Amino acid sequence: MSGESFGNCCAELKEAMSGEDFEPLITVGDGGILYMSVGLIEMEDEEPGMIDHPVFFCPFCGTKLQTADEVRVKSGAIEDEAAS
Ligand SMILES: [Zn+2]
Repeated sequence: MSGESFGNCCAELKEAMSGEDFEPLITVGDGGILYMSVGLIEMEDEEPGMIDHPVFFCPFCGTKLQTADEVRVKSGAIEDEAAS
């Protein structure tokens, strides 16, 4: 299990994730969830932090990359839901 399944849909996404000449804003995070950074947040006494959101569809070609359920399972949030 790895996040290497992302970036196979088109060269644009692959390039955006590899980020050889820049800091990628689309990255595979914990649990193999693909995230896209949507902004910066100011934090007291700290460096600005990135706001990440899961990406469900490729922003370049529109291929479905993952589902909300998959993201929930991978992030472990499904346990919270089952408990409520
Ligand atoms: Zn794509």
